[in-house]
Amino acid sequence: MQSHDHSYIWHPFTQMADFKGATSIVKGEGVWLTDKFGNRYLDAVSSWWVNLFGHSNPVIAEAIAKQSAQMEHVMFDTFTHSPAVDLAKLLIDQLGEPFAKVFYSDNGSTAVEVALKMAIQYWFNKNEEKPLIIAFNSAYHGDTFGSMSVGGRNIFNRAYEPFLFDVKHIEPPIHNPDNSISQLEQLIEANKGKIAAFIFEPLVMGAAGMQMYAPEHLDKLIGLAKENNIICIADEVMTGFGRTGKFFAIDYLKNKPDIIALSKGITGGFMPFGATLCSKKIFNAFLSNPSDGFVKTFFHGHSYTGNPIACAAAVASFSLLKLPKTWDHIAMINSLHKAFAEQLRFNKKVEKVEVTGTILAVRLKSDNSGYLNPLREKIYPFFLSRKIILRPLGNVIYVLPPYVINEQELSLVYEAIEEFIDSEITENNGY
Ligand code: PMP
Repeated sequence: MQSHDHSYIWHPFTQMADFKGATSIVKGEGVWLTDKFGNRYLDAVSSWWVNLFGHSNPVIAEAIAKQSAQMEHVMFDTFTHSPAVDLAKLLIDQLGEPFAKVFYSDNGSTAVEVALKMAIQYWFNKNEEKPLIIAFNSAYHGDTFGSMSVGGRNIFNRAYEPFLFDVKHIEPPIHNPDNSISQLEQLIEANKGKIAAFIFEPLVMGAAGMQMYAPEHLDKLIGLAKENNIICIADEVMTGFGRTGKFFAIDYLKNKPDIIALSKGITGGFMPFGATLCSKKIFNAFLSNPSDGFVKTFFHGHSYTGNPIACAAAVASFSLLKLPKTWDHIAMINSLHKAFAEQLRFNKKVEKVEVTGTILAVRLKSDNSGYLNPLREKIYPFFLSRKIILRPLGNVIYVLPPYVINEQELSLVYEAIEEFIDSEITENNGY
């Protein structure tokens, strides 16, 4: 008999024709998820990179329960509430200059969408025609049309390509940073005064295979963009809230963006939520004189914008992130990742191993790279059979754990990765 899940549900990023059925999870605690048969799985990828402090974290769960019983939701046009205000102040105080205003939404794609719309309308409101946006080649910024448009062109968005707006893509500063700079220079030269915005995933390009690059290269790109009056947008949907070893990845930079998009870890992994922060300069361009009418208004908002339960979860998560012991954990994860990376560095079956903060990425040698690499079909089930959730990106095995993971649990993950490389990968071509 097919399960009800199989009968009724269409799962994301999943080819349903050969779907083997979903694992029904009934309980979460720390890094562990338990299925209905009592099997425990170690969540080594933080459930799509959202979880920071463990599943069903009691501090966040309590804040949600309290807020739900107090006031669950109110439309956010001319109404407000303290969880939203408290969170906005926390974010702005933490991010510092130039961030001055917070706009709430409800997931990473919409946080990016809002950022793009802010940048585009900024120039519209100033009566300047700037039809171009710059992004990195293999970037991933989400699944809505705007966020797909600024993403790299690939299997994820092939069907929609004719409907995506035109974006100029440059090489991310990974293999040849000088190329990225000269590509940006050339685009600026060829499109003088016509470029509205430059969007990037700072330091780690997540869905592109956890590809990492150094802050100084991004600093140069942002510096160049800013000299040419281009609005810079940091997509920190994945990198925010301690993932890269600092509170935000842009904390590694000297040149700050004008807009930042946040989501995923913002509520510690409990609630769908997004926030887009901008500078005063951006915000001020949306203010109208009464004689202008409403044309400069930012006409964007979602039914659940500023949801009090999500804001309360985010405030609670923020309080956990501020604890010194959280940063001790982050540092511990980072040093264990680095030690394991050293161990793999000269492994002939490994093409590249990289660490940034709490993220470890092991790129296996393969003739074929990319999300649909056949190795994926081997990696995911292998680790699941060992009760570890490690969802690869093609030939890249990455570990991105909740910060509460302990040394013993990390060792389980590393040992399983070594076992996979030893037993399942052949030398030279890997697979
Ligand atoms: N930006 C980045 C950098 C992401 O990694 C993701 C999701 N993986 C998104 C945007 C989209 O976020 P969401 O899935 O919440 O829409």
